[in-house]
Amino acid sequence: MKNVISLSVLIAISLTASAQKNWQGKFEQLGTTLPTPNEYRTASGAPGQAYWQQQADYVITITLNEKNHSITGSETITYTNNSPDVLTYLWIQLDQNMRAKTSSTAKIKTSSIKKNEMSTKSFQAISGVENFDGGFNIATVKDASGKDLKYIINQTMMRIDMPVKLNKGEKFIFNIAWSYNINDRMQLGGRSGYEYFPKDGNSLYTIAQFFPRLASYNDVNGWQNKQFLGRGEFTLIFGDYDVSITVPADHVVGATGSLQNPTDVLTKEQLKRFEASKTSFDKPVIIVTQDEAVKREKNPSSKTKTWHFKATNVRDFAFASSRKFIWDAMAVKIGDKTPLAMSYYPKEGNPLWEKESTVAVANTIVGYSKRTIDYPYPVAISVHSASIGMEYPMICFNFGRPNEDGTFSDRTKYGMISVIVHEVGHNFFPMIINSDERQWTWMDEGFDTFVQSLVTKEYYPDMPARRGTAASIVDYMKGNPDNIRPIMTNSEQLYQFGNNAYAKPAAAFSILRETIMGPELFDYAFKEYAERWAFKNPEPADFFRTMEDASAVDLDWFWRGWFYTTDFVDIEISNVKWFKVATDEKSFENKTASGKIDNKNTDSDGNNVDFSGGFEPIRLTDTKASEYREFMNSVDDEAIKKEYANNNLYEITLKNKGGLVMPVIIEWTFKDGTKEIERLPAEIWRRNENEVTKVFVKKKEVVNISLDPNLETADVKTVNNHFPKREEKSKFEKFKEVKN
Ligand SMILES: [Zn+2]
Repeated sequence: MKNVISLSVLIAISLTASAQKNWQGKFEQLGTTLPTPNEYRTASGAPGQAYWQQQADYVITITLNEKNHSITGSETITYTNNSPDVLTYLWIQLDQNMRAKTSSTAKIKTSSIKKNEMSTKSFQAISGVENFDGGFNIATVKDASGKDLKYIINQTMMRIDMPVKLNKGEKFIFNIAWSYNINDRMQLGGRSGYEYFPKDGNSLYTIAQFFPRLASYNDVNGWQNKQFLGRGEFTLIFGDYDVSITVPADHVVGATGSLQNPTDVLTKEQLKRFEASKTSFDKPVIIVTQDEAVKREKNPSSKTKTWHFKATNVRDFAFASSRKFIWDAMAVKIGDKTPLAMSYYPKEGNPLWEKESTVAVANTIVGYSKRTIDYPYPVAISVHSASIGMEYPMICFNFGRPNEDGTFSDRTKYGMISVIVHEVGHNFFPMIINSDERQWTWMDEGFDTFVQSLVTKEYYPDMPARRGTAASIVDYMKGNPDNIRPIMTNSEQLYQFGNNAYAKPAAAFSILRETIMGPELFDYAFKEYAERWAFKNPEPADFFRTMEDASAVDLDWFWRGWFYTTDFVDIEISNVKWFKVATDEKSFENKTASGKIDNKNTDSDGNNVDFSGGFEPIRLTDTKASEYREFMNSVDDEAIKKEYANNNLYEITLKNKGGLVMPVIIEWTFKDGTKEIERLPAEIWRRNENEVTKVFVKKKEVVNISLDPNLETADVKTVNNHFPKREEKSKFEKFKEVKN
């Protein structure tokens, strides 16, 4: 009794001490780390009853001037204030100002000279930005009655001061006229720009961020008016677009939205093919042929034509234009809709593009629809664009160019298919499930890379798996911690962008699906997140909460470890003790007397390294009457002894060396050659995050114990996953193995 009292006093003291320490254990609930739920965003992770978002509708007319590679435009924006707040000014994004001579982007870019030589292209990347003026030239900013509006430009952001306050539910209509010089992507890079083809003297334009766009104003950040420095992508709001694009008469234009005037811009024959593509579900129909494109390349037109597009409920608008374009399309059945999958490419993309591009677009929208929401837009377009992959609503720009003689490697083909699947997939994240890209890159790139890996596995089983597997992230996770930041980091402040924003979150979702939740629970919750936030603006907490809300799996430990820290997975088998239940008193004494247990191999910590010491006998004793306490029945001592006689007991000690708590997956190999896999939830670490011991009862004798045999958990050091223990191979031994 005295002992019990002193023990409870001890517990009370240690509890007080840890509470004072502000416990940040790995299983502590996220609690106040997540924002407090409110009427806009619920505790379950759904949009709340008072959820609101702003709207901006655009009527835009632009002219593409091929002679001097410039765009001149005018837009009328109708901005609707759906927020409960009174607004006095609006913020407009002037992304092209990243290329203005006064831009900070080049100034904050660090550079160094590695050897005393530099390619002319690299040199131009350093010097060229100073010679090119690619910023917006804002001609006028006027209200609906034509009166000038007061505005100020701060780098890539423009504040327009409204003459009267804009109350809830009110609209403000205004007009901006502008122009800018289009960048040569070969010289200056960029998501938008043109590629010049010196052999035929023509250019291929892939144009985006080309018009002043409303910044986002929402319940979480107010105005999202962080400067565009070049990395962190775009935070945008939904609206309807009506865009007229005037280009040289022989250009073919692909854009966000449905073409409104095909009879004005296509020949009779092309129009017929366009109509035919709308009912061609098994293969693409070529609307503009390679022969037609090559003819136009040779005789550029000096006239112009205007292509008219409309798009409903999109967060952005982009287009591509060239007289070099071949154009094909096919219909895709998704729910009650039949969107057109389409591709635009120059002859330099063939024969690869006519064969693979549009089919990949179709596969993507079907594959993603299954896992998220049905693709809602009328078209999905892939445009051939050297060296980049970049996404916009309904349209994306993708690399993948065969050699000049038309041959191509598997690497080129699969690289092209994966970039198309990835960029078309971005229609779902973030074009429809509209997260804040400038803040959280993982919410678009991570989700997209993850679904991409599932879709490519389904449609292209021969394609080598890249990102999105646990194994693919190991090298990054064990890398120099100075170069790693948590996933929950603003996109401009991330190190190792590809690993941190694409590969690590994608691997985390894959582990969550395959190992922690199981596909059934995961897929339902993930689809629920997509459905809840389609055409809305989710935040990280909305995702974290929805995944738990729809699955009843407590994942706070997982979000905490994988998203808020830079811990990695490394679980070690540090000791295994083998016991055998004695059949009777005599066998127990014989074995104890044999002394074999003293011959065991141990390491410097006194832990066993293999089974050479044999087992220790363990005696099952009768349970004392006092142990039953108030229970009226008792266990059958003899039956239990009989049932477990000769059974093996393995007491395993595991150490969490990496910091990330994870489920423990144990593969038992028995003496008869059979195997068994046992899975223990991550909560085994909930009391002691660093070391746990657990006893397993096995009828058969075990010869090998391995952790994570199928490399599901991104364990960075697998040499310590085995018993009998294995030696870490020296570099020389590894070298020898490769040689052999
Ligand atoms: Zn992406």
